[in-house]
Amino acid sequence: MADAGKKKSKEIASPKGTRDILDEEYYSFQGFFEKAQEVAVYYGFKPIDTPVLEHAELFESGIGRGTDIVDKEMYTLRTRGGDHLALRPEHTAPLLRAYIEHGMQNLPQPVLYYQYGPIFRHDSPQRGRYRQFWQFDMDSLGSDKSILDAMIIKMGISILEEAGAQNLSVDINSIGDRECRGAYIKELTNYYKKHLGSLSAVDRERLKTNPLRILDSKDPKTMEVNAAAPDSISYLCAACKKHFKEVLEFLEEMGVGYNINKNLVRGLSYYSRTVFEIVEERGNEDQAPLALAGGGRYDYLARQIGGKRDVPAVGISIGVDRIVASPWYKKLSPRIIKKPKIYFIQLGAEAKLKSLNIIEILRKAHIPIAQSLSRETLSSQLAIAEKLSIPYAIIFGVKEAIDNSVIVRDMGSRSQETVKLGKLLQHLKELK
Ligand code: AMP
Repeated sequence: MADAGKKKSKEIASPKGTRDILDEEYYSFQGFFEKAQEVAVYYGFKPIDTPVLEHAELFESGIGRGTDIVDKEMYTLRTRGGDHLALRPEHTAPLLRAYIEHGMQNLPQPVLYYQYGPIFRHDSPQRGRYRQFWQFDMDSLGSDKSILDAMIIKMGISILEEAGAQNLSVDINSIGDRECRGAYIKELTNYYKKHLGSLSAVDRERLKTNPLRILDSKDPKTMEVNAAAPDSISYLCAACKKHFKEVLEFLEEMGVGYNINKNLVRGLSYYSRTVFEIVEERGNEDQAPLALAGGGRYDYLARQIGGKRDVPAVGISIGVDRIVASPWYKKLSPRIIKKPKIYFIQLGAEAKLKSLNIIEILRKAHIPIAQSLSRETLSSQLAIAEKLSIPYAIIFGVKEAIDNSVIVRDMGSRSQETVKLGKLLQHLKELK
């Protein structure tokens, strides 16, 4: 019975579709967030951080039933107190909840916010698709002006380009407002009813819950039906037509390339008027363009989540995981990462004892260093300094510890100089 006592060793791993982000990858994310914030702050956006957990109802009424996100992908939980909560599957409904909760409608409009953090969707994990992933969002709340749609799209493009993306284009569509969308959806529903036999089972079901969603179906049979489906732009009322025309004019004026994609409706049902995706054209016929960001206008979402009035708004979500994993990503370096100018070497017990004091003097003077305080020998520490190509070393031995001095060594020429501690900062400043 040798096997009876053997327990299958428990696998130690993060949950499927999630991962640890560390070291260089962490800095890739951090560098991206710093660049994105720089652009957002430049345009007058303020930061907000909403909770990772919200009432599930916020998304059920906001994103809407009949969407994959709410029907299949939302992580929900029941608390001991009986609350029904969800891990946020997007940032927009929480932002609008915060806007209403804090009475931001009383501020001068629009209010502009950026936010970033993890998003959770129970999707099937694959390359570029995770169950916990990061989005950077920018939103303008409280104005229906078309220049804001264009500004948000342009800001998204600027951030992506500064991160190294090339060959970007904007897929754009307008799905109308209360005035015109009803007539369009009626027409679309009639069309699909005529082609019911050619729709997939999922899409037949969507016809009852959310017919617009059939337009972005990935099912080959449905896609054939979609090719001749009525398009929303032909049904726009005068006000929506004007709004859409203005957005396109702003884009043209800025030289932003766009394709009007009549099948673009996006996976969340709160949108009105402008919907868009920023895609990377991959130049290979076999590869579908990769969506790096998406967004649109959501003028009616405020009421959908229980607000008393409409809050016209427009926003964008940038998918960060795909950007930092792209071959073109520029590896934006976070500001806290400084190239070490000096390698700090300590030798002997007396020097080790005082070495943290010297490091603190250097840190307060903003002089970037590297060190390996656990090492003992000169050769092992010098080898590291050489490997890291650090231009100077400070050698702090027993004699120096007694004399209150250090040796400053030029790692290139190997010349050395003894410098009193009191003069060290001045001396280091004068080094090239
Ligand atoms: P969405 O909120 O679905 O419009 O997504 C906006 C952006 O987030 C997309 O363009 C993707 O870049 C990114 N994204 C969406 N879902 C995932 C996922 N499961 N894993 C990684 N990135 C995602």
